[in-house]
Parts: sequence; C-alpha cells; structure tokens
Amino acid sequence: MERQLQKLTWLKVQQLVPAEIDTVVLPVGTVEGHGSSCLGTDNFIPETIAEGIVDRINGLVAPIIPYGVTRSLYRYNGGVGITSETFETYVREVVVSFTDTGFRNVVILNGHGGNNSALKSTAHDLHRDRRVNVCVIHWWELCGEITREFFGQIGGHGGIDETAMVQAVDNDLVDTDAYDPEMAYYVRPGVDVYPVPGTILLYKEGEGYPDFNPERAREFHRKVIAEVGSFVEMVLARWRKCGL
Ligand SMILES: [Zn+2]
Repeated sequence: MERQLQKLTWLKVQQLVPAEIDTVVLPVGTVEGHGSSCLGTDNFIPETIAEGIVDRINGLVAPIIPYGVTRSLYRYNGGVGITSETFETYVREVVVSFTDTGFRNVVILNGHGGNNSALKSTAHDLHRDRRVNVCVIHWWELCGEITREFFGQIGGHGGIDETAMVQAVDNDLVDTDAYDPEMAYYVRPGVDVYPVPGTILLYKEGEGYPDFNPERAREFHRKVIAEVGSFVEMVLARWRKCGL
C-alpha cells in the first residue's frame, strides 16, 4: 500500500488513522557541505531509512523537514541553517498536527547531528504536554556498532558510513572526482572552530574516510535499515503492551 502521507487523500487518512495505522515516521535533516557527498546527505539518509522500515512497522512516512540547525559548516556553499528555537517550534507544531490527525506514535528519524539536542528537548516536551509517544533516532549513533563491525572503523560526517548510505540511494549523489582526503578534518577535543576547517568530519584520527564502494554501500544500507526497523518494532511493541 501507499505509505507516503502526502500521496494519500485526506479521506484515506481519515479511514486509516488511527483505526489501522497509528504510527508516523518523520524524517528530519539539513542542507550542508559533506565533502564529496551531496549537500542533501542528511536528508536522503533518513528518508531512505524511513521508506525502508515503514512497511515493517505499519506506519506512514511524512514529508521530511529538510532544514535544520547547521552551525560549523554554515559558511560552505549551499549550507542552510536555522536557529534551534525556530527548529524546535517548527518540529513541535508539525508533530502536534500529526497527533491532531490521530497518530499516537511519532518516530523522528534524524540525519543531522546539529539537530540532536533540539530534537531531544522537543520530544520530551511533546511527550509531557501532549501525551504523544515519541522516539527520536539519530541513526548513525544507533547504528554506530554496525558501522564499526562492518567497516572495521567508526564513521564520520561525510565519512564512510554517510557516504555509503547516500551511494546506496543513488551513486550519482557522490562526486568521487571531487574527493580529496584533505577535505577531512579530525574533530579534536578541546577546539571550537568556525567555520570548521574541513567538510568531512572524523571523530577518530585516521578513521572514517569514505571508501566509495557501491557494493559495500548497498550491504551497509540493508543492515542499517534492518537495525533501525527492528529497534522501532521493539519500541512500538513495548508501548502497546504497556497501554501507552
Ligand atoms: Zn551528515
């Protein structure tokens, strides 16, 4: 069945929600430089994960919120940044609209680290004030162990994990000709630097450089979707079991 909210009619949604479907997946990202991967990396990834899990969890996928809290990469061409306050208000009002439609469970699939703390506080407020069940997933953190096992190293912004996910969506979203290892900056503890001197951000020295292997990318993509899908399935089952 069609699971993209915006492709359904209001009548269809009236019929489905909440009688047959009570879960909506909201992808959230941003637009910012990612080395040799495209500006929309943080949008394409949560979208593909949402599409990958939605049948399994019997949900609908909402249109993405594509602009997020971009800070250290704002000055690189094409970057779009909004403040945490604006972002939190916007996300909250979108989620409240879902609850007014009848959804009980909201899975926010986040693709961008700059959004983490704003999403955490928004989710907490929504759960307290609106009694909505909210699960925010920062996919690269939830799947950090899979990245370590699969690639034998940790990932990074525009690094091996994000680049693989984007390549699995569409190989043309990555420009291997533009790649230069000096695009990468190892994010050292004890430094705040704006703009950050690199558009690929690595969190362990020497680890996380993209490898541009399309076959491995597809396999990694499959593993990430399986992991996120099984996690969300477990959370939903627990909520239901507890009558939430
Ligand atoms: Zn990213």
